[in-house]
Amino acid sequence: MTATLYDLHCHSTASDGALSPADVVLRAKEHGVTDLALTDHDTIAGIKQAQQTAAQHALNLIPGIELSCTWNKRTFHIVGLNIDPNNATLVAGTQDLQEIRLLRAQKIAYKLAKQKIPGALEAVQLSAGAGMITRTHFADFLLKNNYVSSMQGAFDRYLGQSKPAFVSTEWAPLEQALAWINNAGGVAVVAHPMRYKLTASWMRRFLGAFKEYGGLGMEIITARSNPDEIRRALLFAKQFELYGSVGSDFHSPKNQWVELGRLAPLPVNIRPVWQLFTE
Ligand code: AMP
Ligand code: MN
Ligand code: MN
Ligand code: MN
Repeated sequence: MTATLYDLHCHSTASDGALSPADVVLRAKEHGVTDLALTDHDTIAGIKQAQQTAAQHALNLIPGIELSCTWNKRTFHIVGLNIDPNNATLVAGTQDLQEIRLLRAQKIAYKLAKQKIPGALEAVQLSAGAGMITRTHFADFLLKNNYVSSMQGAFDRYLGQSKPAFVSTEWAPLEQALAWINNAGGVAVVAHPMRYKLTASWMRRFLGAFKEYGGLGMEIITARSNPDEIRRALLFAKQFELYGSVGSDFHSPKNQWVELGRLAPLPVNIRPVWQLFTE
């Protein structure tokens, strides 16, 4: 039996990743990943290229997506794994989200202009190309033009919640996003559950809704999770009988802290989410 190495969360130039879908696959292969899910923000545009490269290099490519959702006025990211990327309902959903992203980008650019930072919209449209425009594109623009000295600084000073260029956004309702994923034959997984900074009681409320709407899994291991975060995520997942997932959330080789396939193993006392799609 050959060893498997799963990485079920990463990004390409189809959203805010630095590498093309083909290059993400090649890099994953170099790092020993055997089963990779490409999960770009709100788009399946990179899947076809990733599948072609994966087929040439004997890597198993699992079609995925990371959907931006709103529940109780808060933003959550839900990863859809093993989706049919041609599913018409899902594709239509991504088109709605693309429009929401464009409108939000216009508002962010307007707010930056008021901070005496002109030209942001043109710059992010150019750098995103045909891909989804994200705050990462704005952060890149601010960094390249020396308005900030790091990516983190761009979020701390301008783009993060309650900062001058933050635009609160109504993404897809949670229930709808889960319906899109399930309709496309996929498995819905809560992305980076500890990043939302919810109290335990809000986390339980959220997971109750997630389950009710057909969600099945939770990321237990993400690239930068520490042992305490892993332990807490595992407790919630077990309480709600969720399957466990693992994903690096890789975006760029420039981030030395996050690498494709560089992940702690999934604890043995939780069912792996890939049981649901490798049979
Ligand atoms: P958006 O979905 O357009 O709001 O953009 C969110 C993306 O911004 C996330 O997926 C991350 O890739 C990136 N991001 C969010 N917060 C930070 C941060 N503090 N530092 C660097 N990147 C961040
Ligand atoms: Mn991102
Ligand atoms: Mn995310
Ligand atoms: Mn992500």
